[in-house]
Amino acid sequence: MAACPVGAITKRKEDGIVLINKDKCIGCRYCAWACPYGHPQFNAEAKVMEKCTLCVHRHEKGLRPACVDTCIARTRFFGEVNDLVDLIREKRAQRVSLGFIGGKTTTDPSMIYTK
Ligand code: SF4
Ligand code: SF4
Repeated sequence: MAACPVGAITKRKEDGIVLINKDKCIGCRYCAWACPYGHPQFNAEAKVMEKCTLCVHRHEKGLRPACVDTCIARTRFFGEVNDLVDLIREKRAQRVSLGFIGGKTTTDPSMIYTK
């Protein structure tokens, strides 16, 4: 990712999951400044950045993220983007991803937020 000066953040080609390599992270916090979603969070004790991994360890076993499976309000969904877009239409939800400004993608996000 362009915001990381040491290449500690990568976006996986196969599924778009963004991960932070904590062994490479120097704790400069540029990514926290650059992320419009506020996802990277600084761990002051370890002096490295952390973020949701989309439960990649579960995904690689064919499981959904833990928060998708455990959310009692069923507000979270995980899957192929086209299926999620269909679901948004079905539920008549309004897409509010911050990465979409004037119809163009500025951050090419893998997350979709709706209201
Ligand atoms: S805090 Fe870590 S992951 Fe974020 S930009 Fe700096 S080195 Fe990269
Ligand atoms: S449980 Fe949800 S928020 Fe936590 S790491 Fe997994 S996908 Fe991310």
